[in-house]
Amino acid sequence: MPNRFKKSILVIYTGGTIGMMKDKRSGTLLPFNFDHLYKHIPILENFDYQINHISFDPLIDSSDMNPSFWVELACIIEKNYELYDGFVVLHGSDTMAYTASVLSFMLENLNKPVVLTGSQLPMGVVRTDGRDNFINSIEIAAATEDDTPIVPEVSICFENKLYRGNRTSKHNAEHFEAFVSGNYPALAKAGVYIRYKKTAILNPNFKKLKVHKKLDQSIAILKLYPGISPQVVNAILSAEGIKAVILETFGSGNAPTNAWFIESLKNAIDNGIIIFNVTQCKGGSVEIGKYSTSMKLGEIGVIGGYDITTEAAVAKLMFLLGNYTDKNQIIKLLQTPLRGEMTI
Ligand code: ASP
Repeated sequence: MPNRFKKSILVIYTGGTIGMMKDKRSGTLLPFNFDHLYKHIPILENFDYQINHISFDPLIDSSDMNPSFWVELACIIEKNYELYDGFVVLHGSDTMAYTASVLSFMLENLNKPVVLTGSQLPMGVVRTDGRDNFINSIEIAAATEDDTPIVPEVSICFENKLYRGNRTSKHNAEHFEAFVSGNYPALAKAGVYIRYKKTAILNPNFKKLKVHKKLDQSIAILKLYPGISPQVVNAILSAEGIKAVILETFGSGNAPTNAWFIESLKNAIDNGIIIFNVTQCKGGSVEIGKYSTSMKLGEIGVIGGYDITTEAAVAKLMFLLGNYTDKNQIIKLLQTPLRGEMTI
């Protein structure tokens, strides 16, 4: 039980490189327990915060992340919400942007910081980036102004930057600066001081936290490339049980104009499938009708995703399909920013 006179932070350790160690026999990195991880940053004791932890059992590489772990994570936050001032989630970087995105939708009326972090090098390695990432995250999760958390939203803290979680993508597998937020500014930068960009941070609404635990996985991603064949397109659009498809388009939402392609999409839409147009670019927005190569998509009922990332689109679709049944309402909400995930 946290000491209520001190700021209290709950660390939820899911796994990931930050706590991994090299297995002597196989040479691969495997997750290790929290005490091992914690022992590498005794300096955390210098914060006047109460830091408690909960670990996933088993710890996972984030490539094994899935909706049932997301529900587990959301339930841990729900159960401990009133007890702590903020939450730090230690998570592998590979799918961190998906987890941050989905948590942002699952945690409605979030008024406390949920900071996801991890590292590119394990904590036990001398040059690890995990130490700074972890320390910055704790400080940000505990930061308040006039007794109100400064960053009451789901964020990712990596390499001295804090991003809105549902705006990020992992873009580099070896640089310490592993994440980009191509369409939204950093919420904070950590140098000698942690400087917050308050105008970019969501305001608290002081309403009661509502945790949505239903996610529907009946979605697919159709990434376009020059030369994509009817077989590939139709295989995805006709996959059994699919309710929505993220169409990853070129540039500002453009796609081939071949009759067969438009026909396939139209058939899918006529069969009740939602097609959500998201750009393959890491910056910029879908603008249906800007070029003639997107005009037809608009005419047949493809829904524009503005500047949403693919990660946030996956999360938002799973959340909306899990919580709403009316298709028109889902389409309306897809085009409405719910947690700052897109700019219209
Ligand atoms: N494979 C690891 C994971 O995502 C990579 C990392 O932690 O950065 O769990």
